[in-house]
Amino acid sequence: MTEKLYYQDAGLLTFTARVLDCREAPGGWAVTLSRTAFYPEGGGQPADHGFLGKSAVLDVQERGDVIEHLCAAPLPIGAETTGRVDGARRRDLVEQHSGEHIVSGLICAAFSCSNVGFHIGKETVTIDFDAEFSMEQLSPLERQANALIRENVPVEIFTPAPAELERLHYRSKKAIDGPVRLVRFPGADLCACCGLHVQRTGELGLVKFLSCIRSRGGARVELKCGRRAVEHVLDVWEQNAAVSRLTSAKLLETAPAVAHLQEELRQERERAAQWEGAAFAARAERYRGAGDTLLIEPPLPPDSARRLATAVSQAAGGRCAVFAGGEGEGWRYAVVAPDEDLRPLAKALNAALSGRGGGRSDCIQGSAAAGEEEIRRFFAGR
Ligand SMILES: [Zn+2]
Repeated sequence: MTEKLYYQDAGLLTFTARVLDCREAPGGWAVTLSRTAFYPEGGGQPADHGFLGKSAVLDVQERGDVIEHLCAAPLPIGAETTGRVDGARRRDLVEQHSGEHIVSGLICAAFSCSNVGFHIGKETVTIDFDAEFSMEQLSPLERQANALIRENVPVEIFTPAPAELERLHYRSKKAIDGPVRLVRFPGADLCACCGLHVQRTGELGLVKFLSCIRSRGGARVELKCGRRAVEHVLDVWEQNAAVSRLTSAKLLETAPAVAHLQEELRQERERAAQWEGAAFAARAERYRGAGDTLLIEPPLPPDSARRLATAVSQAAGGRCAVFAGGEGEGWRYAVVAPDEDLRPLAKALNAALSGRGGGRSDCIQGSAAAGEEEIRRFFAGR
């Protein structure tokens, strides 16, 4: 049986222990010790990493009453070894886990629901609930969670006697036989849990909700806690500051500024389309009755090339091919004809002018990489 130092002192990161067993295992060496400060994966909290002597600890699992360390290299059985838990990883995982408890407690109480799933990912934490609610509904709870963090209240971890346990109302994911370890965040949550937690809520610093989506008949909340939340908020602030500079809007007025720009852009596009229509109509007049035409143009958006070809084809009473672009940058082409199946032309054109594209019988579009002279020669014979 491995002595669980992490329950005696959750702040302990360096310890000595005797190596009781070491055997080859998939991915490394399975090492058991007389005692350990390495927390094994459990209760939704991923395993600690770190070192045993010079050997990296890649994973830690609880097997019965023994804690098994998956090590990169073997350790001599019977020897004394020094364990060093990766403190930054431990602190991050504890922050995510404690944040999850506070948030779950507040949400379950507010919506009379249960937490039905919890995952600490590399970037974010996700929690699944068996009730539906929206991000807007969560906003006051997010503020409440952060108020509790600022109050810096001590977290209580205790194992009550059976009679006391019966009187307590606590969250639990499954029925538990024997003693139940409870974790209380005063004012937010009381929950059965085997994981490690902050000692005071202030250590968490911040929780930030990121999204709330419908999932399996309930809701999935995505969040970041502790240092992850702080880093994220700083990054988002920098993004918003950049948008503020670009739009010359105050920091808290960037969204209306961007909405205003979008509306302006929509109106400008509409105006441009009107001008383009008028310009193409005037241009087409010059080709009235001219029959088949080829227009070599400066770069145009793909839809504009098609509209120009359509206008000229109608006025000229024949096929109109528009090649817009240049020799270095390549061409976008659009060919329109009133009464000719253009699909065979598309094939020939693509083959002769290093092109790609196709379309309907009366309109083909694509791109080509040939020189201007080659394009003129191709159409001269048709
Ligand atoms: Zn827990």
